[in-house]
Amino acid sequence: MATTSSSPLAFVAQRCPRCHQGRVFETSAFSPRFQQMHTSCPACGLHYEPEPGFYWGAMYISYAFSMAIVVAVGIAVFVLGHDPEAWVYILAVTLTTILLVPLSFRYSRMVMLYLFAGFDYDPAVAAEVASRPTAAPPLPAPELVG
Ligand SMILES: [Zn+2]
Repeated sequence: MATTSSSPLAFVAQRCPRCHQGRVFETSAFSPRFQQMHTSCPACGLHYEPEPGFYWGAMYISYAFSMAIVVAVGIAVFVLGHDPEAWVYILAVTLTTILLVPLSFRYSRMVMLYLFAGFDYDPAVAAEVASRPTAAPPLPAPELVG
């Protein structure tokens, strides 16, 4: 069975830092409820909040992401638009920052979870989770009535 075990893609795919299989967020990033996190990993049961208020630190990371977006979009507008008027910069930066709020929110929390929560990837837990049956057994084939 192919898994994402021991892969840095688990961070990008927003998976549990211990098993790399359970989802951290309940819905898609495009959902209006993009900020809803599971309280525990649906695959291995790891509790995602090591202490109350743990994710307050994510605000600083999100701020850094926003500043990086502002600088990158500002440079892109300058280069591609040949230094347009100020309102073009303001509009481009504002729209891009607002559109990227779900990703900024989620990845700032993922940085907190992967770097500051003290959770490490555990191959034994990942193997145990991967060995579980994930779906109900297939239904028996219907018998033909003759
Ligand atoms: Zn997990």
